[in-house]
Amino acid sequence: MFDHLIYRPPFEASSVLLEVTRGCSHNRCSFCTMYRDGSFGRCSPEYIEEQLRYYSQYEPDAERVFLENGDPFCLDADSLVEIADQVHTALKNVGTISMYASVRNIKDKSDEDLRRIREAGINEMNIGLESGLDEALQMMNKGYTSDEALRELCRLKDAGFDWFGNVIFGCAGEGKGLINAEKTAQLLNRTQPSLIFTGTIHAEEGCPLYEDMRSGAFTEPTVGGYLDEEERFLELLLMEDCIYFGLHPSNICVMQGYLPEDKEELLSELGRRRERLESKLGLRPLRGGEGAVHF
Ligand code: SF4
Repeated sequence: MFDHLIYRPPFEASSVLLEVTRGCSHNRCSFCTMYRDGSFGRCSPEYIEEQLRYYSQYEPDAERVFLENGDPFCLDADSLVEIADQVHTALKNVGTISMYASVRNIKDKSDEDLRRIREAGINEMNIGLESGLDEALQMMNKGYTSDEALRELCRLKDAGFDWFGNVIFGCAGEGKGLINAEKTAQLLNRTQPSLIFTGTIHAEEGCPLYEDMRSGAFTEPTVGGYLDEEERFLELLLMEDCIYFGLHPSNICVMQGYLPEDKEELLSELGRRRERLESKLGLRPLRGGEGAVHF
């Protein structure tokens, strides 16, 4: 379908991927290389129609659509409503329209905008929240504070959207893992995502964090530090109904479960991982592609 790289969350593997923007409107997060060599732009209605014609032929029963690319929720309300109408006209069984979004994109919209977008059938947001600690948000250049994230995520929830939150362990650097865990859990407890997607901080060549890690300006935690951070995070999480999606290869302990029911089992799994890695707790993880941890 596409002649260029498209990013999507792993759980959108079976979704219709509909490209409505190119690149990311922010493109300044310190750890991100996804869209560094491309500029941001909106796809034309004709191109969107062309994709939908293809999908209506080959995926006519599709129930889930994921809008591309980095933060399509930056589009104005009129554009998003128009795209939702195009989707529902082409694919009659679609019940979920989701996309990557940022706290900044919500802030740009009025309550009335959010209500119209939700009524048009866009109902889920995948948000790279990363942390609830201001120091870490600033270091990652996310472009919002934890207070702003709390306010905007509450507005999103009040408008009837589900949201999935990405969290990055280690993003506050060595020695700050526990406070990062506490602040992030507090924020999530107040905003109740339907899914938490965890990973650990890593950087590839071409982004500011890569240079900071090389120069020593930023030091990631040790293996033991990561496990301490995730343990504190899980202990403090008070989710009502949430998937804990910890399957990213950059995690020290790759695991998943449902919260609240699997909380003790997830903590036990962390404990077992700690025992198995006893000789490596003081070391930094060795990384491969996408930050995959090798032992
Ligand atoms: S908002 Fe997402 S896609 Fe854009 S720079 Fe940040 S991490 Fe990358």
